[in-house]
Amino acid sequence: MKSLWNDKDAKKYGKSLLAKRVYTSRLLGANPNLVLHGGGNTSVKIKKKDFYGISKEYLYVKGSGCDLATINEADFSACDMQDLLSLSLMEDLSDTNMVSQSRASMLDPNSLTPSIEAIVHAVIPSKYVDHTHADSILSLTNCPNGRKNISDLFGDSVIVVPYVMPGFDLAKEVKKQIQKSKLNKVEGMILMNHGIFTFDDDHRSSYEKMIRLVSRAERFIKKKIAKKKLPVSKLQGISPNDLSQLRKVVSEWRGHPVLASLDNDIKSTEFACLKNIKSISTRGPLTPDHVIRTKRTPAIIGSNIVDSIDKYVDDYTKYFNRHASSNLTMLDPAPRWAILPNKGVVYFGKNDKEISIIRDIVRHTIKTIKQTVLAFGSWKALSASKLFDIEYWELEQAKLKSKDTHGLPHEGKVAIVTGSAAGIGFACAESLSNDGATVIGLDLNPDIISQMNKIKGNGVIVNLTNEAKIKSVIDDIVRSYGGIDILVSNAGIFTAGAYIDKMDQSNWEKSMAVNLTSHQMLLKHSIPFLKEGLNSSIVLVGSRNVMAPGAGASSYSCAKAGLTQLCRVAALELAPHGVRCNIIHPDAVFDTKLWTPEALSRSAERYGLTIDEYKTRNLMKTEIKSADVGNMVSVMSGNVFGKTTGSQISLDGGNDRVI
Ligand code: ZN
Repeated sequence: MKSLWNDKDAKKYGKSLLAKRVYTSRLLGANPNLVLHGGGNTSVKIKKKDFYGISKEYLYVKGSGCDLATINEADFSACDMQDLLSLSLMEDLSDTNMVSQSRASMLDPNSLTPSIEAIVHAVIPSKYVDHTHADSILSLTNCPNGRKNISDLFGDSVIVVPYVMPGFDLAKEVKKQIQKSKLNKVEGMILMNHGIFTFDDDHRSSYEKMIRLVSRAERFIKKKIAKKKLPVSKLQGISPNDLSQLRKVVSEWRGHPVLASLDNDIKSTEFACLKNIKSISTRGPLTPDHVIRTKRTPAIIGSNIVDSIDKYVDDYTKYFNRHASSNLTMLDPAPRWAILPNKGVVYFGKNDKEISIIRDIVRHTIKTIKQTVLAFGSWKALSASKLFDIEYWELEQAKLKSKDTHGLPHEGKVAIVTGSAAGIGFACAESLSNDGATVIGLDLNPDIISQMNKIKGNGVIVNLTNEAKIKSVIDDIVRSYGGIDILVSNAGIFTAGAYIDKMDQSNWEKSMAVNLTSHQMLLKHSIPFLKEGLNSSIVLVGSRNVMAPGAGASSYSCAKAGLTQLCRVAALELAPHGVRCNIIHPDAVFDTKLWTPEALSRSAERYGLTIDEYKTRNLMKTEIKSADVGNMVSVMSGNVFGKTTGSQISLDGGNDRVI
């Protein structure tokens, strides 16, 4: 591990003690082998005048939940050192009192809640204190000879702290160990099964002690591994159908839809192929902090997917009953990740953000388990009872609750919207995304990539008149997200107006191919996954033309009429599977690229109307916008329409020909 220290950057941050603290905290945060997603914490002790002008020493410590990689000065909370030291003298201190008293000691009451390790930082006398969960240190400690590994490598140059619960218990233990040691003789402090602390009066020295100790651990492990390799079995493929079945049963246990994402990284796939995968992957996490994200163990999926998840749930329930005191309520028993032996690793989360956090943690766990088994023969995590205490610790639960955004109607759902690079399709995608869905936009227009980026969705360039391409895109989507719940089939083209006897045959055929057959093919290949989806819904985008056609538009109107009939037949076929299919008929949506100001004024003139009159040519005299259609489609895809199928909804401000 290299020091990322850079004189030029260091100067840019400024000379204040806190600015220096921000710089080296970010250096720690920049290395995922040290800390991941809010893990680790740092502090600096600074003398400052309080509100009354009295000079006091404050501990500026990372606010709870902040990420070291992006931390700012405002993310540090200043706690009165005397108060924290007084807390460290108490015999006993509940978590709730520890948090409220730390908060009560803050210089600015509006600061973030200080890290739960604030008292640990306070009892270490050095000005700067750095704490990480370095992978290689955990490799050394998380094995049967963990304590011996630390002595072999570091000798007396580090203080070793046996595992105790983070927070007040850890502060007491650290204080005891420090009193026994000569601080100026040690480089740092190793916390068994938890991580590492370094400290110094100089910020650079404290940071570089961390890098030095972690680098020594890395070299030690590398030497032990030499050329050893673990036995692996042959890789087998994973079918998208298995993945969608797995996602469905996990979502049911979770209590709401989740995405299921197959890890494409070769290292994760190789891990799933290890001969003793079932045994080594289910012994516990890297550092106790991770249980709140990943639970204690992954699910191991055998040949029967439903039975495998049921067994996981059963084991989790037993684990809860064995360790819980009477006043605890069990969290959902669904796994956060699963291993399909010889096939791959799958993550479950309600959105891309949760998946990416779990993926990062698991990839580091996988790497560390593998290197530990190779270097030291086995992997041994903390006991289930100690991990339970963290998983059900009120302070850890609070960290998750503060960021919980669950509650949007489509959270955890996978939605496909075709023709969504612009206009009505984009509005549908945006509305579904705003309502929590993970949206994949399909379009021939290359803009689909950047347009979907705008709404945190994913764009795929595809020709929807090519059946083979449709099938492969659908399979890829299921591999990436685990299934399909919402399909909005919107792609379409306006064909040039022509009377039947004057119409070019290619005009008719093109309209049928894009406006009708492409939808039929999309449904054909999506339906197997929609049947495994969660309250699945199909919405087709039709046209007012179906009920109120105009002369000269046979190619467009007939295709949309065919689409309406496709909707009705799909509703009949899919109702027994709980999949709904409805169609929306919008009219006169002018805020799309198709309608330039020139085209609008030409059309308005033809009817002898102003542009405003032309845009609101309906019974309610109201303008229909693409966002209106998007919002309606999102509602039709959700629970409000949960008992409606085969219906046709007009969105046209009222049209006497339709009514
Ligand atoms: Zn920690």
